[in-house]
Amino acid sequence: MEDCIFCKIIKGEIPSQKVYEDDKILAFRDINPAAPIHILVIPKKHIEKITDLQEEDSSYITHIFLKMKEIAKQEGFAEKGFRVISNCGKESGQEVMHLHFHMLAGKPMGPLLAK
Ligand code: AMP
Repeated sequence: MEDCIFCKIIKGEIPSQKVYEDDKILAFRDINPAAPIHILVIPKKHIEKITDLQEEDSSYITHIFLKMKEIAKQEGFAEKGFRVISNCGKESGQEVMHLHFHMLAGKPMGPLLAK
């Protein structure tokens, strides 16, 4: 089966603006930012979405959240605050079927949901 777009980014087959990378995860700038700062954080393991997570994947999730803390400091928005979103499945509007966490920052985020 063909790799998904984020797996291709991980492999370097599609370019990305990397913010952070290690052996488990990659963080890069969203190509269509929804806020002044919009970073996507993904596990290097292909997991489609939250509802596909297994117990053995827990270290990825812990790692992602701990690194989001560092990314927020590194990018200078830890103090002012930011929003983290992970869309899961059809009604959420998930477009890329590779688990990802949106980090949105750089302006007041306003209400949680668009009406
Ligand atoms: P979602 O709707 O939660 O699945 O979000 C997918 C996100 O991936 C969207 O915000 C897109 O703008 C972003 N995206 C899609 N392709 C790329 C790409 N090649 N590089 C960076 N971000 C991308």
